[in-house]
This record gives sequence, structure tokens and C-alpha cells, in this order.
Amino acid sequence: MSDTTRRQFLGSAAASVLAAAASGAPASKPKKMIGIQIGAVSFVDEGVEPVLEILQTKGHVNTLFIAAFTYGRGIAGRQVPNQPLPDHGKQEYDTGSFHGGSYAAVHPQYYKNTSLQDFRAPDLGKFDVFEAVLPASRKRGMQNIAWFEDVFRSDIPGVKDLEEKDLHGRNATTLCFNNPGYHNFLLGLVEDYASSWELDGIMWGSERQGAFANALGAAAGGRRKDPGTVTCFCQYCQKKGKERGIDFGRVQEGYLELEKFVRAARERQKPVDGYYVTLWRLMLRYPELLAWENLWHDSLRDTYAAMHAKVNSVKPNMGIGWHIWHTNSFSPIYRAEQDLQRIAPVSDFLKIVMYDNVAGGRLATYIDSVGETIYGDVPKEDLLRFHYDVLGYKNEGTQQEIPTTGLSADYVSRETKRAREGLAGAKTLLWPGIDLDVPTEATHSKSKPKGIHDALVASFQAGADGVILSRKYSEMKLANLAGAGEAVKELGFA
Ligand SMILES: [Zn+2]
Repeated sequence: MSDTTRRQFLGSAAASVLAAAASGAPASKPKKMIGIQIGAVSFVDEGVEPVLEILQTKGHVNTLFIAAFTYGRGIAGRQVPNQPLPDHGKQEYDTGSFHGGSYAAVHPQYYKNTSLQDFRAPDLGKFDVFEAVLPASRKRGMQNIAWFEDVFRSDIPGVKDLEEKDLHGRNATTLCFNNPGYHNFLLGLVEDYASSWELDGIMWGSERQGAFANALGAAAGGRRKDPGTVTCFCQYCQKKGKERGIDFGRVQEGYLELEKFVRAARERQKPVDGYYVTLWRLMLRYPELLAWENLWHDSLRDTYAAMHAKVNSVKPNMGIGWHIWHTNSFSPIYRAEQDLQRIAPVSDFLKIVMYDNVAGGRLATYIDSVGETIYGDVPKEDLLRFHYDVLGYKNEGTQQEIPTTGLSADYVSRETKRAREGLAGAKTLLWPGIDLDVPTEATHSKSKPKGIHDALVASFQAGADGVILSRKYSEMKLANLAGAGEAVKELGFA
């Protein structure tokens, strides 16, 4: 985006604030983006106007992040099963009817160079979320951003050819960024959004990482990951690796050794020299392990760049940016790959996930997982302290405590400040993702209005340009939405 077009994007970001001013609020109020992620089902269940009225009056929301394409339940569908239903919506689970796909019309001319062409979501019949919502929200002075994610299922027509291959050559349900069919699908989808609809922006998120970090279970719930199913080892990745001078035979050999190491470690078969030293020995013997991890992340960054360029060529005043996965808050390996200076040139904005409440349980399961592999020699509480130190957190609880307390607003403040500094010199807007009823286990801490209020205030005080209430309206309690709204008002952004 050029400086001029960026000003136009920022200008449109201010449009809703100006509209609010016209309705009686003082015109001198600072311009801040108050966004919320919302799926199509909420508009069907509750009606477009009533939902927009709630969002504006309770949450002072001025921007919708409309979940337009996904096969995942994290951003689409109603409340997930086994979680309490919120105090609005249909008061029923959609366990049987949720399928996923595109919740807006699909225009076939944009999908000529991919086998993925039949992906309109069947869940809500002919309901088209853009057609139904965009005119109404624009009328209210709200901005609209198309929001979609990198989540698929294995029964979509034409998807097989685009799937990643695991270490043993089996198909995965994840798709490969280096596969031209998936690359072209992503470019087609953003071109379709930019050309067909009156949108203010596009946000995409990929909550995945490469084979090395996955084999080590370096993510929340990482214990569940089988080190033999890591990706990607497909022909397109092999070709890209070869162009970089990486010996694929050595890559495979290294990953097979790593698989053995992790399987033994998870069974607590301690190597003679311990887990940490033995892993280092493997990394030194097979530098291809890290080269392959980095290739996966370079491929993601190449995808960001291609999507950014495509949108820029179709509609230069439209912003496009990325949702950065919560693993960024837990794993030093993943954080090392999120070099903000490198991605800023292709990011008009960044939503960096800083979900404070659910972070407690997630960080605890991350520690449990890597505490059996790379750090198998280190007692869990010491390992958690080590992570607080290397990630820059202070005064957070013990491994026992954090699932029931969550992390603090100070964590949100520190993460916002770090991202702000990481983006020094860049024009990228920083929009932290704020936790509003992100599901936790029954006995773990639940979002409360005060916690949401404090996280939101902390992020703005630390330099955020806006916030995105997450993950989806259909799982949020109205009292918690009002907690966010109180903070917005207090800060003078309402
Ligand atoms: Zn691949």
C-alpha cells in the first residue's frame, strides 16, 4: 500500500468514528478501531439489525470482522459443544448442522486455476453474509472486514490435490502454501472479496507451524501431536528446498531421527546425555531440521506477500493484514519466526493474539508438552519461570495456578508494547486480539467484565491502534461485551 492509499484506508477507518460524531458524539474524539469477530450464524439466529444494535450500544464496536470462509468452529458456527451457551442467540448447539465453507456467494471466475471450486457452506442455506450485512452496517457507519482462516476438511471436492504430505508421505488435512492449487485459491478468494464486495479490508489467519516445532509439540495441547504426522514433505516443498540447496534425503533422515527422539521422550525414556543435549546433537548433525522449519515459515510469508500484492493490484485503498496465532505468546521458536520487521512491509495491519484469560490454560499445556521433549530434564515450574523470563512476562502465576487465574492485563500490556516496538518505523497498524469468552475447560477461569475491561485499557495504554474482540460473537456473554464497551467509553473512544 502506498502512503496515499494508506491514508485512504486510515480515512475509512475513521469513517465510522465520524458517523458517530454526526450522531451526537464530540467530533474531536480520537480515532480508534474497535472491532469484533462475528460469524454468519449470529446474523441468521438473531437478525442483522438487532445484532448491529447490540454491538454498537453495548460494545461501542465500529468494525465488523465477518467470518466469511472457514471450515473451523473457532470463528464460525454457534458456541462449541460442551461450553455454556451465552445469553443470546438460538440457545442450541449446531453440532449436527455445522459444516463450514464460504458464507458468501462464490464467483467462479476467480477460481479457474485451482481444483477447489465447490466450497459454498451449506449450513445456512442461501444466506449470504455479505449481501445481508454490508448495506446495514455501512448505513450505521461501521467498517467491514472479510475475515477467513487456513482451516479445511478432507471431504471438500478437489481438496486432495492441495493437501500437505506428512513425514511418511500420507495426506494431511492441512493445505500446502507451495502447492500452486492452494496458492491460486487464496489469491482467487482475496481477489473475489476485493472485486465483488464493498469491503474496507481483509484479514487472514494461519494457526500452524513447521515440522520441527510440531514434532516437539511446541504449541498449546502439543502433546496430542504425533511426531510422524508433521508437514510438509510434498513435491512442491521438495522443489522449493532444492532451489535453496537443501538435501531432501537429509531432511527426511533428520526428521525420522527426531520422530524417534520424541516418541521415546514422551515415554520418558531419558537419553544418556538427557533430552536437551541429545536434541542439540540432532540439530547439529542435521541442520536440515531447522532449514525445513524456516522454509515452511518463509512459504507462509511468501503467501502473505502474494495476497497483499493481489489485493493492492485490485483495490489499492483496501487494507489486508494477518491474525498472528497465540503460540506467539508461548513458544520462543514460533516467536522467533514472527519477525515483525520482515512481515510489516506486506501487512497493513496485524492482529496479534493476546487472549489473557485462556492463555493460562494454554500456556500450562504448552509447558506440559515441551516439558517432555526439548526440556524433558527441567522441572515444570522452573520451565515456566524460564519462559516468563525469555518471553518478557512478569508476576504471572505458577503452573498450578494459571489455568484457574488466566494471565494478567500486564501480559497484554507487555505484548502490545513489544509488538509496537517490533513494528518501529513501519506503518502497520497494531490491533491486538482481546479475549472475550474464548472457551476454557469447565474448571478453568472464565472471562469476566473487569478482566476484559482491564485488558482493553492495557492494550490501548501500551500503544495499540485498535482492538479486535475475539473469537466470535456467538460465544460471548453480553455482560462481557459491555465490559469491553465500558473500557472504550472510559478511554474516550466511544
Ligand atoms: Zn508442501
